[in-house]
Amino acid sequence: MTKTILITGASRGIGAATARLAGTRGWSVGVNFAGNAAKAAEVVAAVEAAGGRAIAIRGDVSREADVTAMFDATERAFGGIDGVFSNAGVLHVAGRIADTDPGLARRVFEVNVFGAWLVARESARRLSTRRGGRGGSLVNMSSAAARLGSPNEFIDYAGSKGAVDSMTLGLARELGPDGIRVNAIRPGLIDTDIHADTGKTDRLGELVGGVPLGRPGLADEVAEAVVWLLSDAASYVSGALIDVSGGR
Ligand code: NAP
Repeated sequence: MTKTILITGASRGIGAATARLAGTRGWSVGVNFAGNAAKAAEVVAAVEAAGGRAIAIRGDVSREADVTAMFDATERAFGGIDGVFSNAGVLHVAGRIADTDPGLARRVFEVNVFGAWLVARESARRLSTRRGGRGGSLVNMSSAAARLGSPNEFIDYAGSKGAVDSMTLGLARELGPDGIRVNAIRPGLIDTDIHADTGKTDRLGELVGGVPLGRPGLADEVAEAVVWLLSDAASYVSGALIDVSGGR
């Protein structure tokens, strides 16, 4: 069935790959981005070339007004929303907690936790069958870091993703009766731009030895799991935390 979805942080990486895959299904996609309008425009063009429809929407998930506006824009363009991929997230330069700037950690919690909370709240308001919505699927972006803890790199980031897991479990129970399935995806090491933020130029190379499948993952491989969770093929899946981590 054709769907309308909103993806936060869809200008690059896993969000962009998910938008492109949704395009091949003929879905309509709200492509949210924070600052990189040129990359978002490329994703919109790729979705359309694949057979879907898309619009780019600038907005910061940690700001309530921006989150409301991105849902509004998607609904205005395509009608009601069936699915939301709450994907936007940040990390920062790797280091031990004793040396970490609280401002960097605060931003991680603002975007990864409060942003995910705002997107979940708006999803509940728009999708709930009890509030006139048509039900649907919310996919939260967690990380293998939630269970590994990211020692010596970013305890705050791992904690933010642990919070996403907890919210996912609660949301699945709270929103099931509203016709909304809620799940989280927990990627391991995926080859995207985000690793550059750590300041380690070869972070993937340094950590790949701990991956049983012996290589980093591709954004496209994560997108497959996300689109499945958004689709009707996953109609009885809710409250799941799905690892896409090559066994790590
Ligand atoms: P990425 O390539 O760095 O892309 C990040 C995306 O998020 C970009 O589209 C960026 O927009 C957007 N973004 C950043 N801050 C935002 C904000 N405040 N509001 C709205 N959008 C914002 O990252 P990625 O690797 O695809 O990661 C996506 C998600 O997967 C994150 O939540 C990350 O924690 C999670 N994850 C990644 C990995 C991995 O190994 N890559 C593993 C586990 C989990 P602009 O382009 O405009 O900056």
